[in-house]
Formats: sequence, C-alpha cells, structure tokens
Amino acid sequence: MLRQVAEGVLIHQSEFCQSNAVVVHGRAGVMLIDPGIHGSEMACLANDLSESGQTVVTGFSTHPHWDHLLWHTKLGAAPRYGTARCAATIRDRLSDPHWKDSIAGMIPPDIAEQISWDLFGLITGLPAETARIPWDGPQARIIEHQAHAPGHAALLIEERGVLVAGDMLSDALIPMLNLNAADPIEDYLAALRLLEGAAGDVDVLVPGHGSIGGADQVRARIDQDRAYVQALRDAGVPGDPRVGPSATFGKDWLPGVHEGQLQRLARRSERDGTPG
Ligand SMILES: [Zn+2]
Repeated sequence: MLRQVAEGVLIHQSEFCQSNAVVVHGRAGVMLIDPGIHGSEMACLANDLSESGQTVVTGFSTHPHWDHLLWHTKLGAAPRYGTARCAATIRDRLSDPHWKDSIAGMIPPDIAEQISWDLFGLITGLPAETARIPWDGPQARIIEHQAHAPGHAALLIEERGVLVAGDMLSDALIPMLNLNAADPIEDYLAALRLLEGAAGDVDVLVPGHGSIGGADQVRARIDQDRAYVQALRDAGVPGDPRVGPSATFGKDWLPGVHEGQLQRLARRSERDGTPG
C-alpha cells in the first residue's frame, strides 16, 4: 500500500523494522529510494506502481547496508544509484565469495527466507561531489556524509519539501554509528550539522526506519540524536526514550545495540588513549 506524504511523494512501509521505501513522481516515471525488504512486498509495490501507470526510471540506495540494497525483477531495470563511496563499499563486499553468508548472518532467519538476493547491490556510483540525482523529475539534492555508513546520503526533494533521511533521524532507532570509521562520533555530529543546515527547507521527514515526521520533527530529532551521540561520547547514560522503559519498538534488541556501541567506544578510547 502506497501512502502519499507530500505532492508526488509516496511511501511503502515494510513490516521489517518499519522500513520506508520512497516513491517520487517524475515526468517519465518514478524514482524509487531504498525499495524494501521482502520479495513479496517489493512485488506488491511494483504492482501498485504499474496499476497507476507508473514505471521505475531511477533507483537510489541511501547507503551500503543490506536492507537498502535489495530489488525485484518486477521493478524493472532502471539504473540504481548511490554515492561513489556507497558503491565502492558494496563492490568491496560483493568481491568476497562468501558475501551472502556473511550478510545472511546479520538477518533474522525468518526474514532471510523471504529475501531474494538476485539483484542485490547492483548500484552505480555517482561521481563524488554530484549535487543532484540525474533524473527527469523534481530536483533531489544529495546530502552526503559519513555517519552510520560510508557514503551515506540523505536526499532533499526541494520542490516537495521532503527530506529522505536514510538511516538518520529515526523516532524508532537510536543513532547507529559506523564504528569502523576513524572518528565515528565526529562523523555523526558533522552529519547532524549538515542535516540541520537543510532543516529550514523541510516540511516532511522520511526516515529509513520509523514514522514520518512534520517540519517540527526535523529539529526535534536532530536534537535528540545529537544528545544521544554526545552522551555516548561522554560515556554518559542517555535519557533517550528509544532505549528507555517506555520504548515501544525493538525492546528486545535495541538496548543491546546501545550497550554494544558504548562498549566498543570504550575499548577504542582505551586503545587510543583518546576519548571516543
Ligand atoms: Zn543502515
């Protein structure tokens, strides 16, 4: 089921982790951002699109994590883009002959059964510094940063006032840092500053996972994420509702993610003798 969130912008939410696929209407077809998870859901999305007379002319993956890189034959053979760094990261991953096993190890078995890997990760990297998605539709500004995953990009659909945030600014998930980076805390804070710079142009916020937010939610979620990351940096206890007793999402695993981040950052600072 597609749901309109702004003029010419619709979302399709997966049962898995409240993942949001985003459809943006262009002149000759639609752009599909982070298409979805289950094969059946993507087939349903493809049917909804074809019933409304639309074809997918452009794909985009916000970042090189498995749940943003899937595709379905019914969605057609449009070019699928990501940032250069995103594409390079995927290429690197797929060059491992055992890539499927290593990714499948991260996925709950019941979900893994419903995933088709056939067209996984076929992403064309846009040259570094590309400012906008090359397509015939509303301009989509690429806001690239290095928080959460290498070459992560949010897209700002300026004419529609929509920010497609990828795995940032979720009301359900805490910030998940790219702990393999040299300075994950600063990467995250820098990304939040970049998103803050665009916040004035945003009426609708679409996170990769979680609920759609209005204009007021953009700054609220930036503030909430910054407070969480600063608490991680200072080894403090974040008073964050997403991992608190009142949390409604991910109760059985999200607190573990939080603890894991704290521990890995503590080990890094012990090893390096520097905070964070
Ligand atoms: Zn991710």
